[in-house]
Amino acid sequence: MTNSIYVSRPFLPDFGEMLPLLQDIWDRRVLTNGGPYHQELEAALSERFDGRQVSLVANGMLALTVAIDAAGLEGEVITTPYSFVATTHSVKMGQLTPVFVDIKPDDLNIDPTRIEAAITPRTCAIVAVHCYGNPCNVDMIEDIAKRHNLAVIYDAAHAFGVRFNGRSVLSFGDYATLSFHATKVFNTFEGGAIVTGTSENKAHIDTLKNFGITSESSIPEVGGNAKMSEFNAALGTLQLKHFDNVVRQRGIIDKRYREALADVPGIQCLPIPVGVEPNFSYFPILVTEEYGESRDQLYNRMKEDSIYTRRYFFPLLSGLPMYRDLPSAAAENLPVAIRAAEQVLCLPIYPDLSTEDQDRIIEPIRRRI
Ligand SMILES: *Cc1c(COP(=O)(O)O)cnc(C)c1O
Repeated sequence: MTNSIYVSRPFLPDFGEMLPLLQDIWDRRVLTNGGPYHQELEAALSERFDGRQVSLVANGMLALTVAIDAAGLEGEVITTPYSFVATTHSVKMGQLTPVFVDIKPDDLNIDPTRIEAAITPRTCAIVAVHCYGNPCNVDMIEDIAKRHNLAVIYDAAHAFGVRFNGRSVLSFGDYATLSFHATKVFNTFEGGAIVTGTSENKAHIDTLKNFGITSESSIPEVGGNAKMSEFNAALGTLQLKHFDNVVRQRGIIDKRYREALADVPGIQCLPIPVGVEPNFSYFPILVTEEYGESRDQLYNRMKEDSIYTRRYFFPLLSGLPMYRDLPSAAAENLPVAIRAAEQVLCLPIYPDLSTEDQDRIIEPIRRRI
């Protein structure tokens, strides 16, 4: 029997490295509510993200919902149909109406040249995704947002550690949100963060993530509980020490895929855009008509070899039952996204993917030529 290969395998440091941190937590009995590991991780991440303000939260979904709440929005939100479901659900859960705009074929991010046509008097914000960690066209989005007085929230769940033209990609937008879920490039089992530009914004988020409480006797706002525990924060401080190495290992795997698939007719790898220092969080390929077999046929054939690729992102969010009747969800409005959702396949990529296993993944893709 051959081993099964999954699309991701969470990185963890050696168990022994975690023990002194756990001992600390047990000794101190500070388990949550902004304890010492929470403070240490926020400070370390702030440094990594070019001095931006960082608020840790319990997961990436709460990062989105709290950021949307903090932005004080009402009305319509321009967003992408090509993402994980949390992106659109967070808009909907904030009592806002998602308005889908098509994506670009080169990076599968929201197409900024189509945003202005979707703006109405009710538009209040743009919620865009740095898909697979590739930065959106942040300059154009910022320019549109300024001219139309819109908030910009980036779902940066894929973009931890990515830099663009020498800047942390998390330094763009009014808010950028992160997920530290087990499957992400940086994980704390579950976790996330909201990155903002001002200490006022951070203070507001820190209130919203803790029931709206500002002091023992003062609760000026409605808020839920989105706090990260000391366990997750301690693990995060440890994961951060290994992060650059994790990205280096992923980069080697990325390069090997690109070389091995370069001459396969009909298989396209997404280019690494100019000016981007990537995190190699995903390895999407597009299975085009020229390949002679559909994406789903390849997906199923690989599954028979116990290789579990993922069709991120399929189905499109605009096709889900709660969104498909929106005018912006019409197929004519989203041709590029519809095509991408039919063609994309994410191949396994994680730091300890062995050369033998990577060859096993490459072989069925090359078998057709
Ligand atoms: C993973 C993910 C989220 C949600 O993060 P969780 O930590 O799982 O709640 C949100 N948006 C995108 C694009 C994601 O990939």
